[in-house]
Amino acid sequence: MVSYKELGLVNTREMFAKAINGGYAIPAFNFNNMEQLQAIVQAAAETKSPVILQVSKGARNYANQTLLRYMAQGAVEYAKELGWENPQIVLHLDHGDSFETCKSCIEFGFSSVMIDGSHLPYDENVALTRKVVDYAHQYDVTVEGELGVLAGVEDEVSSDHHTYTRPEEVVDFVTKTGCDSLAISIGTSHGAYKFKPEQCHKDPVTGRLVPPPLAFDVLDGVMKELPGFPIVLHGSSSVPQEEVDVINAYGGQLEAAIGIPEDQLRKAAKSAVCKINIDSDSRLAMTAAVRKVLAEKKGEFDPRKYLGPARDNMKKLYIHKIINVLGSDGKA
Ligand SMILES: [Zn+2]
Repeated sequence: MVSYKELGLVNTREMFAKAINGGYAIPAFNFNNMEQLQAIVQAAAETKSPVILQVSKGARNYANQTLLRYMAQGAVEYAKELGWENPQIVLHLDHGDSFETCKSCIEFGFSSVMIDGSHLPYDENVALTRKVVDYAHQYDVTVEGELGVLAGVEDEVSSDHHTYTRPEEVVDFVTKTGCDSLAISIGTSHGAYKFKPEQCHKDPVTGRLVPPPLAFDVLDGVMKELPGFPIVLHGSSSVPQEEVDVINAYGGQLEAAIGIPEDQLRKAAKSAVCKINIDSDSRLAMTAAVRKVLAEKKGEFDPRKYLGPARDNMKKLYIHKIINVLGSDGKA
């Protein structure tokens, strides 16, 4: 058993309380490799933003959970080296699928876990979440639960439709489970293809497709039932069209990739939404940079020459999100 406290990590409790009171949201960025982690830590350290490093089950399989834990520990030390005296960094399990996965992560030094029972019948979701909370709280690890189902695909998590969270269930769920934060479904979704073109309208100025708005009435309903309780949005990439254009210009084929407009997320960040998950956008930023370098320099075979620009492009994206969308800069 390794406590996250020994690794210099923090849980989400204080971070979320401050974010709700301050009207901003904490970025939760997924990571799978060193360049991505460097970009996240540099962006957070330079902007002095608290940050949640998220690891999905897919990332654990890809990168190895032991290595990921030491990378998170390294992230804390690296942040200090960059001049961030008191780094506020969370290591969080994204979409924990069982009690055993959550327990294993807690024993490996994670400071926060999500147990995703949203696909289960309500009572089973309550029971599973409660079991994880009882275990996690013994070690002061915070727990995110989920009510409602998001559409889209993310690693092993997928659904072909979404079901909005029912505000009338949230008090009962939070009371019975004791979870520290709640992921809800208001129309965000996983992946880079969040909407079908026929669901969108065309912006007359840019010619780009604009998706339907998020269900802020559902968010308002949840906040009315649970005043001051930390709310989480998954699937909140905006799918920057500049990155999609670069990918397509250099041999990629991403057709009609559409995300959540940033003004919608900015609005959400000012509410009780205090954690916003962003994964696809950094995948796009990385892929765009790699494709461009490899297309322009056909003789290049030094990975640093394309992963370096990929890292820089991701860092630029993270800083943009922190300052212009989440408002978490200067809060750590
Ligand atoms: Zn998710």
